[in-house]
Amino acid sequence: MKCKKCSSTAVIKLRQHNVSYCEYHFNEYFEKRVEKTIIKYNMCKPEDRILVAVSGGKDSSVLLYVLDKMGYRVDGVFVDMGTVTPPHEELKQLQDLIRGQVYYLDVRDYFLGLTIPEVSKILRRSTCSVCGTARRYILNRYALTAGYNVLAMGHNLDDECAVLLGNVLNWHIGYLSRQKPVLHRTHSGFVKKIKPLVLLTGREIYAYALLNHIPCSKENCPFSKNASSLRYKSGINEVERYHPGTKLRFYTEFVKKSPFEPEKVTIRSCSVCGYPTTEDICAFCRMKARVKNALGK
Ligand SMILES: [Zn+2]
Ligand SMILES: [Zn+2]
Repeated sequence: MKCKKCSSTAVIKLRQHNVSYCEYHFNEYFEKRVEKTIIKYNMCKPEDRILVAVSGGKDSSVLLYVLDKMGYRVDGVFVDMGTVTPPHEELKQLQDLIRGQVYYLDVRDYFLGLTIPEVSKILRRSTCSVCGTARRYILNRYALTAGYNVLAMGHNLDDECAVLLGNVLNWHIGYLSRQKPVLHRTHSGFVKKIKPLVLLTGREIYAYALLNHIPCSKENCPFSKNASSLRYKSGINEVERYHPGTKLRFYTEFVKKSPFEPEKVTIRSCSVCGYPTTEDICAFCRMKARVKNALGK
């Protein structure tokens, strides 16, 4: 197997593009692909200040590394939700590879000293839904107050295709209207949200991490084993095996042709914390009030 660009021995074959690359040219391909995604979807500019939400896993670590390498003004932030042991060692090694900083936040500082598993037990709500609401809130609020205007997430093509398939199979029109590679700022209390790895598969990201010695934690969140999403992923992978390029087409054509537009809603400021919301009080403050109530505080 020879590299398409230089005919030295290839290290990876990308069937969806029908090419093979050596280490040097795979890295070149990967970084160009990220740049192309950023330009195609108008994600960010060199003058932006970008915050990457890092988990210690391969996708977000690669995203922080690659944006930093490409010359963007970027830092990372890890939010300790109390669901996994924070990957201190991996994040320390990642810090040594980049010019930007990796910061730590603790959900307890935002949520009455409680972790997400504790909150979900008190509220009798699923850990993932409590975690999602709190994490979105904390990341957005931190980004705004620390002077970032863009928040970047490590979602890859496999994740987006699995979510898309789930949304189509169930005709979740509301979710479909919001499934985009970029969420533009609709209120001064929101930062722009981008997903620069959406055109790269988990396999490509893993290969890039290995070739560039980017440390990644193997530990997955024990609460995130969403069975249906794993089934959607393996189903699409099965189709992809026989029809390479299906995933890329499924996602990019959806983004290009989707007729679903988000409903026009009036966004105002939460009367408790000022965070943008469609209600009088934002979802995070409502959750916090219910916990206070339950604890009799
Ligand atoms: Zn080559
Ligand atoms: Zn609020």
